[in-house]
Amino acid sequence: MRTKIAKEFHWEMSHRLPFHEGDCKNVHGHSYKLLVEIQGEMNGNWMLLDYYDIKKLVVPLIQKLDHSFICNETDTLLLDFVRKNNFKHFVIKNYTTAENLAQFFLDSLAPDFRNHPNIEILKTSIPGTALHLNDNRTLPSFLKPSPS
Ligand SMILES: [Zn+2]
Repeated sequence: MRTKIAKEFHWEMSHRLPFHEGDCKNVHGHSYKLLVEIQGEMNGNWMLLDYYDIKKLVVPLIQKLDHSFICNETDTLLLDFVRKNNFKHFVIKNYTTAENLAQFFLDSLAPDFRNHPNIEILKTSIPGTALHLNDNRTLPSFLKPSPS
């Protein structure tokens, strides 16, 4: 039987948007939320995936981000500062908008979720945490690769 489940994760993190013409160019923090949704066929235990296993896949990444400064790789001003002072930081390719963070989570988590063949769709979103960004962003899901 097809079903859908979701789990929410929370962490604290600082960032900035260097291109922003308003307050978001400054270093500031958010209490972030990540919503991970999966869809597919239930397994023999009448579960899509045990919530314990979802946590096992997501929490290690959340722990890397919690109380860190997330930095776009081109923001050398801040990158030099956090590296020189040995502050906890995490570097991503794109600007740290909620849209890009949701895509970052999708790209980071998809390989592990693909290891569960009954999961067909994974969605990640950053719901309603950033005042300067839209609520309830949902990114395109991935479909499991068809067997070749
Ligand atoms: Zn912000």
